[in-house]
Amino acid sequence: MTKELYEIGETPPLGVVPKKMHSWLIRPERFGEPMQAFAKEVIDVPEIADDEVLVYVMAAGVNYNNVWAGLGIPVDVIKARQKGGETENFHIGGSDASGIVYRVGKDVTSVKVGDEVVAHCGSWSKNGELVKQGKDPMYDPTFRIWGYETNYGSFAQFTKVQDHQLLPKPRHLSWESAAAYMLVGATSYRMLMAWTPNHVKKDDVVLVWGGAGGIGCMAIQIAAAMGAKPIAVISDESKIDYCMKLGAIGCINRNDFDHWGMMPHWKDADAYGEWLKGARGFGKAIWDILGEKRGVDVVFEHPGESTLPTSIFVCETGGMVTICAGTTGFNATLDLRYHWMRQKRLQGSHFANDEQAKGINDLVIAGKVDPCLSKTFTYDQLPEAHQLMYENKHPSGNMSVLVGAVDEGMGISS
Ligand code: NAP
Repeated sequence: MTKELYEIGETPPLGVVPKKMHSWLIRPERFGEPMQAFAKEVIDVPEIADDEVLVYVMAAGVNYNNVWAGLGIPVDVIKARQKGGETENFHIGGSDASGIVYRVGKDVTSVKVGDEVVAHCGSWSKNGELVKQGKDPMYDPTFRIWGYETNYGSFAQFTKVQDHQLLPKPRHLSWESAAAYMLVGATSYRMLMAWTPNHVKKDDVVLVWGGAGGIGCMAIQIAAAMGAKPIAVISDESKIDYCMKLGAIGCINRNDFDHWGMMPHWKDADAYGEWLKGARGFGKAIWDILGEKRGVDVVFEHPGESTLPTSIFVCETGGMVTICAGTTGFNATLDLRYHWMRQKRLQGSHFANDEQAKGINDLVIAGKVDPCLSKTFTYDQLPEAHQLMYENKHPSGNMSVLVGAVDEGMGISS
């Protein structure tokens, strides 16, 4: 007989979906730091539509987006969904998952009950205007990040996804490693591989900001897998070894320089000259690693305001700076004279489509990209994992939380 509720770690028989599930919920009255925002509740397992799949979550990945969801800023994701007509007054986050298919909608043919899968977090309506025209669904107004902009993410025993979000779980990985890489990996893959003709090619020089960070560790490995020459930027010598092991050909410590922030005005000759000295020094550090005077073909950007002027400066003629965030601020400053004369490209990039998610999954399956799982948490420690991230005390690489997977013998690392 089907139980109404299974305990965490007590796996329901394959394909048996109980009425209720354990979940970590964010509610508006709890908005705040992660330790306050998340609370355990038992709620109904969600219904699925004809093109959706219910996945029994084995492990969930930890990403910064659900720190934001818990804070209720810059967007109150619950209110935003209610404006769109949804009624729930709670949010179940989680934009990375590994798990087992437990139920499929009647139109689903790509997966079946029992399949071991990972989920990417790109969701969109099949009826979206641009989707119907065969354009990149990332540009469609119906695009939503699953488990952030949509409800019923992976921080619960069951999660609801669209069929196209699912990819085969790499067989050599534990559940927690499989839950760690997709959001960061697919984002990095699109940044480096989608923007032809500037996609990363053999022998290209690729500068990776935050090389030991979540997306940075993926970028180094993708560039190395393409036969390119990744150079990592770090802020602490202790991260050098980590980046070199991932495939970096050299590292630059950004604390050796102090020209960060918005560029001075071009009419302020003294300040501009000082800035130029710093930027040239940084460029020389790149030449020293390469052993030749050569610019960067692809710059992997995300700090934004404080580093973008340098990124554009060191970019080779005809090269590209690809950017997915503005962690240090949103004012992008650059000297347009060099930008047009040297015909450089500044390319915004956001998550990934199905093809790019498959691109990173194939590299992981082939053993060319490691998920860089640095720490695994138990289900009860989910708020703690997010609190570490909120306080910027999280370790290099990526973190996971066990949901259905048990921790015995699973090699919980710390
Ligand atoms: P993370 O693990 O915290 O890593 C960020 C790295 O940035 C750190 O390791 C740090 O390395 C570096 N950094 C911090 N402050 C810096 C500064 N002032 N100047 C230069 N580098 C600095 O975060 P993540 O997961 O890699 O994510 C990075 C950013 O990308 C976040 O803003 C995230 O929200 C965004 N993101 C966007 C998408 C998208 O689809 N648009 C997807 C994933 C992530 P060092 O201190 O060693 O230099």
